[in-house]
Amino acid sequence: MDERAALRATVVAIDAHQDAIVATLRDLIRVPSVNPNYPHFDGVPTSTGTGESAANEVLRPVYTAAGCQVDVFEAVAGRANLVGVRRGSQPGGTRAGGARSLILNGHVDTVAPGDPANWASGDPFDGRLEDGRVVGLGASDMKSGLVAAAWAARALEIAGVGLRGDLILESVVGEEMMEHEAGTTATIRRGHVADAVIVAEPTAVNGAPALAPCSGGGTVFQLTIEGLAAHSCARGNHIWPGGTGGRHAVNAIDKAFDIAAGLRRLEATWYETRRHPLFPQGHFTIGPDTISGTLHGQTLSWAVANECRLEYLVMYEPTRSQADVRAEIERELASMYDADPWLREHPPAIAWTHTWPPYDTPVDHPITRTVQDRHRSVLGAAVEPQGFAAVDDATYFQAAGIPAVSYGPGSILTCHCFDESVSIEQVLAATRVYAAAAIEWCGVA
Ligand SMILES: [Zn+2]
Repeated sequence: MDERAALRATVVAIDAHQDAIVATLRDLIRVPSVNPNYPHFDGVPTSTGTGESAANEVLRPVYTAAGCQVDVFEAVAGRANLVGVRRGSQPGGTRAGGARSLILNGHVDTVAPGDPANWASGDPFDGRLEDGRVVGLGASDMKSGLVAAAWAARALEIAGVGLRGDLILESVVGEEMMEHEAGTTATIRRGHVADAVIVAEPTAVNGAPALAPCSGGGTVFQLTIEGLAAHSCARGNHIWPGGTGGRHAVNAIDKAFDIAAGLRRLEATWYETRRHPLFPQGHFTIGPDTISGTLHGQTLSWAVANECRLEYLVMYEPTRSQADVRAEIERELASMYDADPWLREHPPAIAWTHTWPPYDTPVDHPITRTVQDRHRSVLGAAVEPQGFAAVDDATYFQAAGIPAVSYGPGSILTCHCFDESVSIEQVLAATRVYAAAAIEWCGVA
């Protein structure tokens, strides 16, 4: 079979199994796989700790029926990763003297649903159909990507298409809480490597999936701002001229607001100056996400808060080092502290608590080109590479020396939201493009 005939037969198989593809997605959504470490709404018994493993059992038979050897393993007890290896006729990837191999990767964990009452149906896990869409937690992020990848391989099997290189399917745990060592990095350490990776994260904003050869980096810092407790009814005396001011009371929340205003000014300069050709202007941001001002850890309104904590997520260009970003922010903070007598004497403690480095695969890399070309030929429309709006596991493949791009059904704009949904048309489009990319990349046996 030549490549054209192989692709034709595979697309016929996908079209003939549309209902089964949608059914797999709905089944997968119906098995809750909330990341057990994700903060969740009280009273929703979704974080059982083993939901990821249970959801992977929905995918396992699809992997097996796709002709894969299945590897189920836990790097963290109770949280099983699922890997399926569809061996090629020239196995092992080019590093082992075989044909080019390809990984289709995704994560099976989801964020928490929040209060189910905020979902239109009252059930985040019903996987209901609505106007050509599947609705439910994980529909976009990213059970649809997992199902599209699994069914691309299954369709190759139905069509009787053998590949030269290995095609590897992965459904990993832990992505939503940056636990790559439990998920994607664990699969790499276990020896599941390839010549390239497509991460099936939701890249479609409007219409078809977009192609994301890079993402920004993300880093989180926490500031602990010190104040001086006093009776809050005397605020006038604390803050206006003629009073006893900072000798008597310092409201840590006021200081936090001053610092936040300064960081907002820095963010505004980033809007003008921090540009990257694959991202819209203004993508790189310094965003406040948590604030908590308290009196000795208690929330109380009749005493001045003596401590305030601010937490920020910083998104920066893929071309920038994290050390450089941190240095710029710390310089800015230091100059604010310098201008404030209290902060100069009591500089807030800073802790950099999380870090997710960017990935950056060239736009002319063969894997980027393969996905771009197959998207155009299969869907009949061009796709221009653009930066991924969030971060994903492509970072950890790149860290292991494996080039990766992101491409998948679903929109980041519906992720981590109530009534998350995905367009069935996008799921089928991604399934076709994955199959076509695998045929081109791995070659037909
Ligand atoms: Zn995701």
